[in-house]
Amino acid sequence: MTTGGSRLDPWVDSYASRANAMRASEIRALFAVASRPEVVSLAGGMPYVQALPIDMLTATAERLLVERGATALQYGSGQGDVTLREQILEVIGEVGVVAHPDDIVVTTGSQMALDLVTRVFCDPGDVVLVEAPSYVGALGVFRAYECEIVHVAMDDEGLVPAALSEAITTVRAAGKRIKLIYTIPSFHNPAGVTQGPARRSEILAIAQSAGIALLEDDPYGLLGFEGEPPRAIRADDADGVIYLGSFSKTIAAGLRVGWAVAPHGVREKLVLAAEAAVLCPSNYAQLTVSEYLATQPWREQIKTFQEVYRERRDALLESLQALMPDGTTWTIPAGGFYSWLTLPEGLDATAMLPRAVANLVAYVPGTGFYADGDGRQNLRLSYCYPEPDRIREGVRRLAAVIETELELVHTFGTAHGLAPVTGTSVPAPDLL
Ligand code: PMP
Repeated sequence: MTTGGSRLDPWVDSYASRANAMRASEIRALFAVASRPEVVSLAGGMPYVQALPIDMLTATAERLLVERGATALQYGSGQGDVTLREQILEVIGEVGVVAHPDDIVVTTGSQMALDLVTRVFCDPGDVVLVEAPSYVGALGVFRAYECEIVHVAMDDEGLVPAALSEAITTVRAAGKRIKLIYTIPSFHNPAGVTQGPARRSEILAIAQSAGIALLEDDPYGLLGFEGEPPRAIRADDADGVIYLGSFSKTIAAGLRVGWAVAPHGVREKLVLAAEAAVLCPSNYAQLTVSEYLATQPWREQIKTFQEVYRERRDALLESLQALMPDGTTWTIPAGGFYSWLTLPEGLDATAMLPRAVANLVAYVPGTGFYADGDGRQNLRLSYCYPEPDRIREGVRRLAAVIETELELVHTFGTAHGLAPVTGTSVPAPDLL
């Protein structure tokens, strides 16, 4: 080989600059250990698909192949199957979004919608405003398109409007262009908090007056534990908001079917970008979802998911309350999969992780959810996948690790064991 580069990768000098921003997480290797059955993983964001009636899905898939196999196995439209787009209108109606089938682009999970929106909007160096912390998979996309990521503070009701206004002013004063405000208003990943109606209106008003597109990511909106699902921000502005949704958490993540609802011009570009990327989303997966929605009690199934996750959320919160040492705090999720924990002063979640895994419990350290190395005192706990008893056991183990760390800090002044992690890198997909 005469390509230069390194012995490990001779092509490294040939890569585009954007490839430099694509890095595997330093903690991936540790999670290979963490996926062993004796470890209680509070790390992964995997939906509990076992709660689905698999027999019924088998029947759905079989019927689809027998009755419409030639269509299901063929290429389809770049924008997505029109019947499915009509059915998606029903689903988004649950969060107050009224749209036309033409406004919808079906994507390979909402992850792909994040990629397409960023591809259409962002040149290298453009600023994207995101919550602090934010969804690691979105940070990976923004980095891949060489965006500058600027975090904006959150509180118990999500993104803080005053901080958002201030960030817009500061970034613009530095002569930079802000292309998107990315927000997860309902049952945030990883923060576990939800914007109330007034907060949503304030954020929308700020985006509108600044003339910045709001990218609303809502994969968990129907997985609330109390009352009606929160009304989407998109329900109040069809022109300024791009709304992303997904069947990953309400049906099955493995089908990889999500969508974007976008204003007309944006939608046209998204379809062209999607065609360039994948020609069309999987017809087989789309028709499976469509058949499921047409023939099965999908609202009832969502209720089943809500109950499963509520029980697990309760197991997590009760054991945190009973076992965590003083100085530890956490958010109280009203839906979704996650709680965001803040360690006592002086503790470092990244440094602590190997010791937690040795004590047979895993979490995702907070640094993964920041582009700027922040989040060392935080960690994300997912309660979506383990059974309630395993969650309780996991919290018991975690509390013991935190107690030991506190003793180390007390004795040596520090518990830090690992080199600092800076920047965002992408963990394996099942951790997202
Ligand atoms: N956005 C958020 C906030 C998420 O948590 C996830 C999945 N973890 C996604 C988008 C992507 O989901 P999918 O591609 O499966 O629709």
